[in-house]
Amino acid sequence: MYSDQHLHCIYSGDSETPAEDQVNKAVSLGMEHICFTDHHDPFVNSDIDFELDFPSYLDGIGKLRTAHADRIDIGIGLELGLQTHIKDHLVSLSEAYPLDFIIGSIHFVDGLDPYYPEYFVKYGKNAYTRYFETVLENLKIMSCFDSLGHLDYIVRYGKGSDLTYSYEEYAHLIDPILRILIDRGIALECNTGGMSRGLPEPNPCYDIFRRYRQMGGELITLGSDAHDPSTLGCYFEEAGEMLRSIGFTHYAVYHGRKPHMERL
Ligand SMILES: [Zn+2]
Ligand SMILES: [Zn+2]
Repeated sequence: MYSDQHLHCIYSGDSETPAEDQVNKAVSLGMEHICFTDHHDPFVNSDIDFELDFPSYLDGIGKLRTAHADRIDIGIGLELGLQTHIKDHLVSLSEAYPLDFIIGSIHFVDGLDPYYPEYFVKYGKNAYTRYFETVLENLKIMSCFDSLGHLDYIVRYGKGSDLTYSYEEYAHLIDPILRILIDRGIALECNTGGMSRGLPEPNPCYDIFRRYRQMGGELITLGSDAHDPSTLGCYFEEAGEMLRSIGFTHYAVYHGRKPHMERL
């Protein structure tokens, strides 16, 4: 079973799952490696506390790694919320701890989380455009992460969960995003989390992976974004098959912020 490199547990403000439950589920699926990537979205206006307590997280997952070393290899990663106005803070934070893997994700656009309907009320038909613009603005000034998380995150919460969405409509913003990733050696994440909630494709959609491949992109990571064991590794076989049909032969597994290519 492919390694799951996008997992949350009790150290994330939006998960109650004990870390060990995720480990046991991964072992039961036959995974040889997983990486925890708990949330850290500093300085955001939210009812949920998305700030990670780094010392306790590193200590807790570190102990778990040692305790289960004979069963599975456990990485300590991070899902870092990118925002342009705190760039310097994020860059120094990314270098401050001995992490295996950092996902860069855009969860807030001009201070609003598209998870909530207020975002769509404010931006109306420009909701998707503004999201992709924000991703691009962040990428232009930051490379302090290893893989770009759920590039079209916005479609998870759009009307009808993406039924009207097409890559072509936003190609003028998505192509420059992919160009930056390829030029800087940053991976593109295939996030299957939305599929467990009814999305027909991962985030981003397969057309974006096709375009990325066409442009020369080779570095991809796989993650289920599971906040509890029920969705850990969800739809990995299906996504792997599609990615192979698009032309990818390997995916990257990160240790100490370095990619190791594994057969897809
Ligand atoms: Zn996320
Ligand atoms: Zn996540």
